[in-house]
Amino acid sequence: MISILAITLVLVGAAGCRSKSNSAATAQESATPANVDASRLINADQQPGNWMSYGRTYSEQRFSPLKQINDQNVGQLALAWYVDLDTRRGQEGTPIVVDGVMYFTTAWSKVFAVKAATGEKLWSYDPKVPPEWAVNACCDVVNRGVAVWEGKVFVGTLDGRLVALDAASGRPVWEILTIDAHFPYTITGAPRVVKGKVLIGNGGAEYGVRGYISAYDAASGKMVWRFYTIPGDPSQPYESPVLEKAAKTWTGPPRKLASGGTVWDSVSYDPDLDLVYFGVGNGTPWDRHARSPQGGDNLFLSSVVALKADTGEYVWHYQETPGDAWDFDSAESIVLADLTINQSPRKVLLHAPKNGFFYVLDRATGELISAKPYTAVSWATGIDLKTGRPNENPQARYEVGKGAPVAPGPPGGHSWHSMSFSPHTRLVYLPVQETGFLYKSDEHFQKKAIGYNVGIDFVAGGMPQQPEVKKAILGTIKGHLSAWDPIQQREIWRVDRQSPVNGGLLSTAGNLVFQGTAQGNLEAYRADNGQKLWSADAQSGIVAAPITYTANGEQYVAVLAGWGGVFPLAAGEAALSSGRAQNVSRLLAFKLNSKASLPSLPPFTPPQLNPPKSIATAATIHRGETLFQPLCSPCHGDVAVGGGVLPDLRYSGSLDNDQWFEIVLKGQLKQAGMVSFDKDLSHDDAAAIRAYVVFRANQSLPQPASAPK
Ligand code: CA
Repeated sequence: MISILAITLVLVGAAGCRSKSNSAATAQESATPANVDASRLINADQQPGNWMSYGRTYSEQRFSPLKQINDQNVGQLALAWYVDLDTRRGQEGTPIVVDGVMYFTTAWSKVFAVKAATGEKLWSYDPKVPPEWAVNACCDVVNRGVAVWEGKVFVGTLDGRLVALDAASGRPVWEILTIDAHFPYTITGAPRVVKGKVLIGNGGAEYGVRGYISAYDAASGKMVWRFYTIPGDPSQPYESPVLEKAAKTWTGPPRKLASGGTVWDSVSYDPDLDLVYFGVGNGTPWDRHARSPQGGDNLFLSSVVALKADTGEYVWHYQETPGDAWDFDSAESIVLADLTINQSPRKVLLHAPKNGFFYVLDRATGELISAKPYTAVSWATGIDLKTGRPNENPQARYEVGKGAPVAPGPPGGHSWHSMSFSPHTRLVYLPVQETGFLYKSDEHFQKKAIGYNVGIDFVAGGMPQQPEVKKAILGTIKGHLSAWDPIQQREIWRVDRQSPVNGGLLSTAGNLVFQGTAQGNLEAYRADNGQKLWSADAQSGIVAAPITYTANGEQYVAVLAGWGGVFPLAAGEAALSSGRAQNVSRLLAFKLNSKASLPSLPPFTPPQLNPPKSIATAATIHRGETLFQPLCSPCHGDVAVGGGVLPDLRYSGSLDNDQWFEIVLKGQLKQAGMVSFDKDLSHDDAAAIRAYVVFRANQSLPQPASAPK
């Protein structure tokens, strides 16, 4: 997996970062750029023209009080300016806007500062992530954004560094390594700053790392505290009493190796309670038999955890998927809101993790208030409000030789694509994914320290090729935008989406909801009833969330466009059939009555499949499939169908020559992120993988509908 075998280099285009604008307006830059402190962040609603942290406020509601653009005039919203990006990898970032300057990140953890009124470039910073580190990233070389504080801009890099930049110049002020670089940690999430401490977690739960969140002093980069989400090496003392308790929820022989639970996305903060909240990812491997053989809840996997902001001391947790076996991360957006429930005002925490249930928790205590499925769920019939535990469906547990079809599947009912809560409509706007998967234990599973290794038989879970079966399965993989009432726990309106994966959400006091789509549109809906009011062609699939801000008194809506992330890499035909064929990564900004336009796209000519004849034996092809599915498909797509971002190997020019081995075993394309797999694969293995890809290319020939559009 994480291989980039074919000869098309898509990592870095030649365009560079250039901005185009037809606006002569000047931004209202402040004397001290990114001059954000505790008071400004806590009182962010008093300056709605800025977007000063990832979710705009510490509550991460992604609701803006701005209403210059509203349900009456949004039809006049038009492109104001755009910036072309120097990559065609996925764009997941949320820009930050402070006093007329916008800071945003792109793939490979690069940071840019531009004028918020015009897109004019001020500076850029490239942390020079080694391309070969991409092999450690399950889900593309994406980055979700920066944090700002007292004149500094903070970014977490894919290879595990936290870098503080001078907001005026983009030059590094300090840089620290937040990980043990012997392990395949990655950072894709945005830092948050709370009380002068930069909070940052990491990813890698598919690769066997041990999850944690750390706090670093914003001024010096010195670590203030670290909270591990799971117990570590039992021969070492526990880092805290709560981990000693957590260890009792794990079974089997002592784990020498770490077992997941990464904190890779959501962090929110309640200044009154002084609590930091974050979501914890899945365990390694996914298969609990292989991770914790006699069962157990495996704390704090798949949980929401609350800590004291000053010390990182544990306060409470709520585990959403005890003993998770389905890759049900709980890392998804954590939104804080004040609601009246049963006539009582409640400080709540709203959460829609991958497992398909929408949870309302009391954020002071962690008490479960309510939970209902927001998408098709088969692993549990409901959540017991007395115990807070799921009523699990025994059929959802799988083992060697016994597969279990389960909804949601590994993409989850909702992933990192941010949801939004509007205090005006009291609705949550949620990008829902409708997915399922056939989970089955990998009978050849062996625990190893490094590398993607989740204990699942991905051959059993691969897309069947009988046309009717495939068509039926593809018909079930879709998504929708849901307007969800968290008090009544029911959907109020929805917009159906062709793809399960679309952009994150923004809601505004203008009675508007904005979302980008896999098909490449940015769309606006009435927040109260879901009526579609506006759409703009972004020329590229969107997975990031839009923001809104003002510059020179005018309201803008901005979004990063760029198809990528785990779904287009790994989901094969499901991604190819629901996404947009061309990927043009850009930052786009819109305002009322503007007149800019995008250049028209060059005509897209689908490549022609021209594979060599498939002459390998069935046994060799099968062996190739059993190697390809766990090792290559996470980047090059399920059953060797590329999803439109990384090379589709069926089109590779090295299927009939020895360059294949130069790439796979000797690292010829390591500068593009395709490292050598000589530690995992023999020459015969690499040949078997090639035989499988050749077989799949030939199998694809009579089905023109499966070729890229
Ligand atoms: Ca995961």
